[in-house]
Amino acid sequence: MSLLIRNADVITLADPTSSAPEHLDLRIADGVITDLGPGLVPRDDDEIIDGRDRLVTPGFVNAHTHSWEAPFKGRYDNMPLELWMLYSYPLLGSAPCSPDFIRARSQLFALESLKSGVTTVVDDVLETPTQDLEQLAAVLDAYDRIGIRANVSGHVINLPFVDTIPYVADRIPGEVTDQIRATALVTAEEYLDYSRQALNLVQGFGQDRLRYMLAPSAPQRCSADLLAGATEMAVRHDLECHIHLLETKTQLVTGTEFYGTSLPRYLRDIGALSPHTTFAHGIWVDDDDLEIMADHGVSVSHNPLSNLKLGSGVLPWRRYREAGVNLGLGTDGWSSSDTPRLLEVIKAASLLHKVADPDPAAWPTVTETLRAGTVGGAASARLADRIGTIEVGKRADVLMWDLTTLNFTPRQRLDHQLVYSENGSSLERVIVDGVVVVEQGRLLTMDEQQIVEEFNAYLPEIHAWQDRTDRLNQVFHPAFAASYETCSHTPSPINRRIGDGSHHAPLHAGHR
Ligand SMILES: [Zn+2]
Repeated sequence: MSLLIRNADVITLADPTSSAPEHLDLRIADGVITDLGPGLVPRDDDEIIDGRDRLVTPGFVNAHTHSWEAPFKGRYDNMPLELWMLYSYPLLGSAPCSPDFIRARSQLFALESLKSGVTTVVDDVLETPTQDLEQLAAVLDAYDRIGIRANVSGHVINLPFVDTIPYVADRIPGEVTDQIRATALVTAEEYLDYSRQALNLVQGFGQDRLRYMLAPSAPQRCSADLLAGATEMAVRHDLECHIHLLETKTQLVTGTEFYGTSLPRYLRDIGALSPHTTFAHGIWVDDDDLEIMADHGVSVSHNPLSNLKLGSGVLPWRRYREAGVNLGLGTDGWSSSDTPRLLEVIKAASLLHKVADPDPAAWPTVTETLRAGTVGGAASARLADRIGTIEVGKRADVLMWDLTTLNFTPRQRLDHQLVYSENGSSLERVIVDGVVVVEQGRLLTMDEQQIVEEFNAYLPEIHAWQDRTDRLNQVFHPAFAASYETCSHTPSPINRRIGDGSHHAPLHAGHR
């Protein structure tokens, strides 16, 4: 049994210089794109899909997200990262989530992702205090049954959180810091042991759609032996190693305060960089950092919506491109951008950098941002040989868009309209690994209503828990706010924040 899509406008994204559609037929068999070309001759076992008035594109790859923030979607606003984390990643009062709740949470996240055209999620899952295999299995089970492709971590923090941000610990009452520091943290060996077991566990799920991912949270949040060990393991098993880096000005100051150097240089020096490394964010980088990242083949997930919402800054898009660093696009967590819909991120990336640089020649093209949202993310996820473009031999992760909607009326450049005019409502079919998982906007693999009801049953409990942790963690608020204030005013040669006139000149330093 094979699928034959006939007479469609296809944006293959195979050519780095063009996202213009071609009029093509497409055959999918055993999960693979087997034929692509004009006028394919139908075979007896082909199920034919009429592609007239339809646009076919690769599925989107969300290169950085955290499904586990589901309970916090839409809860907070107007807080910088360090303060927002106090409440979304509470230090006090959190308890391990049950596998049943984790399954409900993951299903809901995958449902909204799939229905918006995200066929692959790089899901940096964190559980508190640490993740166990049963919790990881609940995520994998949900993704297996719903039919999404995913890299799932394994997120680990193994330093006391109050010691990971400069100017914080001294400002918190001693008994509270003692309590935080007394919490047992995993050693590098324990995390690598867990990861070896996770590698075995993942074999039982998802017909190779699902992979385990190593995810040391950030250089300042993990010990050097853990960062280096995770990198080495990722290289040995061809896995992604996912690390948060230089998301905020505070983290820029962290590098000099804690290590006397930039965080990328520190990671290089301890042996924690490789082509398997993906940095989430990478906003506050200088030219030396970019050179180090390019030399080591590191990828970066750019998360413009999250960066805007948390006021983190603006990634230097054109300098990354010129340095030759691979860029993917991510929504970041379900609370820091409040959406898993990658098309919105592709649009934000296409727009944001136009106000960050006065030179129109430096602005992102739609071809660049569409490729970052597909093949760029696939490369950062170590999946570039399997997905990200529409080419013969690739796994069939494919979207079909209805071109008769108002969003595509009047028809012009379809790639431009997909990014700037489309809001997701024209998405008609979503195919993952050759299986149609969404048709006419409805999920086929599971009962949508049941997924929503299963999660909502937890809501009263969630709200009560959050009200309690919000209150408990206010004890840290003044110290974290003061640290943010101090770091914001620390002089720096790098500035990525739009509209800050006093730093306007350095924003363009080194460009062209
Ligand atoms: Zn993140």
